[in-house]
Amino acid sequence: MNVLIVYAHPEPRSFNGAMKDLAVDVLTGAGHKVQVSDLYAMKFQPAGGPDDFTDRAFPDQFGYQAEQAAGHFAPELKAEMDKLAWCDLLILQFPLWWFSLPGILKGWIDRVFAFGFAYDRSRSYESGMFRGKRAMLAFTTGAPASMYAAGGRHGSIDELLLHVNRGMLYFLGMEVLPPFIAYGTPRLSAEDKAAYLAAYSERLLNLESTEPIYPAGSETTTF
Ligand SMILES: Cc1cc2nc3c(=O)[nH]c(=O)nc-3n(C[C@H](O)[C@H](O)[C@H](O)COP(=O)(O)OP(=O)(O)OC[C@H]3O[C@@H](n4cnc5c(N)ncnc54)[C@H](O)[C@@H]3O)c2cc1C
Repeated sequence: MNVLIVYAHPEPRSFNGAMKDLAVDVLTGAGHKVQVSDLYAMKFQPAGGPDDFTDRAFPDQFGYQAEQAAGHFAPELKAEMDKLAWCDLLILQFPLWWFSLPGILKGWIDRVFAFGFAYDRSRSYESGMFRGKRAMLAFTTGAPASMYAAGGRHGSIDELLLHVNRGMLYFLGMEVLPPFIAYGTPRLSAEDKAAYLAAYSERLLNLESTEPIYPAGSETTTF
């Protein structure tokens, strides 16, 4: 299996860094091919706009999806698109920031999940262009699990993740695996952190038998 890990943390010695390094070791050890897009190390520019393109199809007035459809992508975007096309499994590794993805990772989605390359008006969800691929979120939170339980102060983690799991990943047709979440990492004991890393290793070794959360039941939505 070909695996792309898109990793968004500014500090290599962070717990996210440890999860990313572990995933590379475990997946490579299990015989998979792994590529990592380390967005901070790459100084990935998150703001989508005219600089995404080497040539403008509509020079008078900028239309983002129209230019994406024309497909004159800058080399750094083409390189990310090639990695995404190559992978069978996409892992997004990040700390939860403001209930969502860090801006650098959201920018990677904005720019790489491009109209015409990743979706179009007739291809999304069950007829999505990336059917056959799988995707999984691997992330950390500052708050403990109890705050993300149903009825918890932050609300249900499943509802909070809907815009990513459904609106970004399943939207492209990918099967979405349950997220791996390390809760409350800044205040965990050494034993709890080791237990999370052991559980993540176990998850990575059992990806192929893990049931997706999307698609669920009969999905008929079209864009
Ligand atoms: C802008 C912003 C918005 C945020 N919004 C939210 C939010 O909406 N919800 C929320 O819950 N939280 C939020 N947070 C908190 C954030 O999610 C956490 O700080 C983050 O998830 C912690 O992950 P980390 O990788 O940065 O941990 P770190 O602080 O890097 O790691 C935790 C500890 O683990 C240690 N460690 C590293 N590697 C290992 C290893 N191999 N073995 C054992 N220990 C190790 C580190 O040294 C550190 O002591 C926000 C933070 C910011 C900056």
